[in-house]
Amino acid sequence: MTTPRRRIPVPALAVAAVGLALSAVVVVGGDSHSSFVRSFNDLAQLAAAAAAALTAGHAALRSSGRARWMWLAVAVGCAGWAAGESVWSWYELARGIDTPFPSLADIGFLLFPAAAGVALLLHPARGGRLTRSRRALDATLATSALALVSWETALGAVVSAGGDSRFALGVALAYPLSDFLLLVLIVLTFSRASGSRAQLALLAAGMAALSVSDSGFAYLTSNGTYDGGAIDLGWITGFVLIALAPLVRTPEEEASQTGKQPEAVTVLPYLSVAVAGAVTAARMLTGHPPTRGQTALSGAVVLLILVRQYLTLRENAALVGELAVREAQLRHQAFHDALTGLANRGLFQDRLGHALDLHGRDLRAVSVLFLDLDDFKVINDTLGHAAGDELLVRISERLLAAVRTGDTVARLGGDEFAILLEDGGDPLTVAASVELALRPAFVLDGSAVKVGASIGLVAVEPSDTATTADALLAKADTAMYTAKRSGKGQLRVFEEGMSLTELSDQRMGTALAHAVETGGLTLDYQPVVNLDTGQVEGLEALARWTHDGRVVPPSEFIPVAERTGVIGALTEWALDEACRRVAGWSRGHKQLLQISVNVSPPQITDPGFVATVTAVLARHRLRRGQLVLEITESSLLTDVVLARGVIAELRDAGVRIALDDFGVGFSSLSQLHAIELDIVKIDRSFIDQLDTDPRQVRFLRSLLRLGGDLGLQVVGEGVERQAQLDLLRELGCRLVQGYLLARPMPPDEVPAAIAGQSFAALS
Ligand code: C2E
Ligand code: MG
Ligand code: MG
Repeated sequence: MTTPRRRIPVPALAVAAVGLALSAVVVVGGDSHSSFVRSFNDLAQLAAAAAAALTAGHAALRSSGRARWMWLAVAVGCAGWAAGESVWSWYELARGIDTPFPSLADIGFLLFPAAAGVALLLHPARGGRLTRSRRALDATLATSALALVSWETALGAVVSAGGDSRFALGVALAYPLSDFLLLVLIVLTFSRASGSRAQLALLAAGMAALSVSDSGFAYLTSNGTYDGGAIDLGWITGFVLIALAPLVRTPEEEASQTGKQPEAVTVLPYLSVAVAGAVTAARMLTGHPPTRGQTALSGAVVLLILVRQYLTLRENAALVGELAVREAQLRHQAFHDALTGLANRGLFQDRLGHALDLHGRDLRAVSVLFLDLDDFKVINDTLGHAAGDELLVRISERLLAAVRTGDTVARLGGDEFAILLEDGGDPLTVAASVELALRPAFVLDGSAVKVGASIGLVAVEPSDTATTADALLAKADTAMYTAKRSGKGQLRVFEEGMSLTELSDQRMGTALAHAVETGGLTLDYQPVVNLDTGQVEGLEALARWTHDGRVVPPSEFIPVAERTGVIGALTEWALDEACRRVAGWSRGHKQLLQISVNVSPPQITDPGFVATVTAVLARHRLRRGQLVLEITESSLLTDVVLARGVIAELRDAGVRIALDDFGVGFSSLSQLHAIELDIVKIDRSFIDQLDTDPRQVRFLRSLLRLGGDLGLQVVGEGVERQAQLDLLRELGCRLVQGYLLARPMPPDEVPAAIAGQSFAALS
């Protein structure tokens, strides 16, 4: 559907057209001395002005805000003029004498330009792109040019004709002066107007017709040649146009939108200069050489035009520059990730395609690393999206720092990143440096957050000439997925035969379930050593599985057990087995020997879990405080309220709760207050850099202090070097677990370990 064009109601147009045509015939064509023509002329002017006052008044009633005041001003001006014309007609027609000058009529007539000027000032202006200086120049230009015209015609003539009195001259001068000012206003308003241009055009044209007639009248009167005719028709026409202006129907939205400035409008200031030039030329040809003042003014006008041109040029140059910058921005936006500024998927695929083309030509090496962050969703859910976004930005910074120049790092979406390596070199080295770069914790909102990534790697073989970007990316994705399924923080190189099907999961899950049932799983035990006494404080039970002759690491089969639902049976078995063993080892042991069992996150809130645990405790007659359940932070997240309740029940039953892998997740020290815990186990990755990174030392010191305040035991996990142990001891960490002291061992080696022989590292 097309919007209807602006229209003036047909009857109004018809009346206007007939009236004007009649006026043209009678006023211009008729004998100006006949009383009929004079009467017709006066009444036609009166009628036109009154009609304009009426339509404008009606428009004022209908509109609101600025527009209402504008139409009101137009109505007042027209009504004033109509009143003046009534006085004039009364002298001329009723009393049959020439209207004296000045008279009351002049008050009404002069009210018009004043009110019209106010109306123009009230007309809504467009902000526009024009600079302030150019706008000021346009104003000066139009003013100067029109001043020149006015002076050479009406104003000059009126001044040189003089008047009967100063007052009479003043009134006489008021006409051309106010006309001149009104014309300037018309030019300026029209060149920067917003809203309905058709309305303003009619209004401005009407006012202009009136101003020109007015000045013409002043000019002709001053040299005694005024004889009605065309001048009077100008007045009638002017008011008819003004009367039509409020009748223009404008669709609402069109009236409110700030439309594009039509070419013709920008030309208006020049138009006034052209008129000035024409008038000057005509005056010179008719033997009126310009005065000095006029010459100076003309010179000024020329100068102003030059300055305006210069400013326009400069503005255009600036505009071109702006456009170029904007275009570059848009191009960047199209190819880059808005959050991190990395390449986006589109650009990555483009570069990869290009690299594969080159590979087809010269067999150069091309590899792709596909990264997916581990547990990013958990971070997002706990710390909030703002923190999640910040984390992504920091990660991308580290990735960029880890790769070589020439490698492309892209964010493919969410927490997925890809790196294109096309400069040769060993992709495994880059993968290792990426992994290393992500290792230090990120500090977000005062929380230390550790983020791992599962990485898939695919390298194009020299024989592989026909592969596509999509195919390669899919292989990298598959390798990443395989890495993720075999536990977190892993790297897998793509191999043919890797697939995304759940088939292998199912097969492994079934085998695992079978192993749990038939005693195919075993538990190794790793001592937790008390540094004060040098004795074994407790043991952590760690599941072991050998499947098809291969030792499957827990990082691989525990996730499978979780995904296939075997984990419930596995934990139940581990609990029973570990408690049975520790009950045996405790006989004849002086201290309380603790046993730690790992519990997978969703299990803690499993209905019946508490019952299972208490049954095991009863079955093997464990003492209060002897069983420790190790949970990770993510167990507390699924349903905090529920988890808290379960933890409280377990603690009532004499079970102690250890927060495992502390420092890997997202909890800050302050969050520890919220959960009822007994033990915090600091993750190996934190202990890892203890002897090289002073920040880790500071973190551990405050954690130990807080642990002390809260009555928490702190265990340092994964201690491999003597320097780490010494530091931990110095910081006051009493409990330690790690290869340096003892590796996880089969049950038959445990009695010797707990018998009290001292550990080499402690001596
Ligand atoms: P975790 O509970 O944090 O267990 C500690 C892990 O660190 C064990 O790995 C242990 O062998 C290893 N470790 C101990 N000292 C050192 C050291 O000095 N250096 C290094 N590099 N590693 C050390 P493991 O046995 O491979 O177990 C891995 C994870 O699998 C465990 O992490 C635990 O989350 C899970 N897991 C093991 N057994 C079970 C189980 O029975 N049930 C459940 N739900 N999870 C289990
Ligand atoms: Mg553990
Ligand atoms: Mg741990």
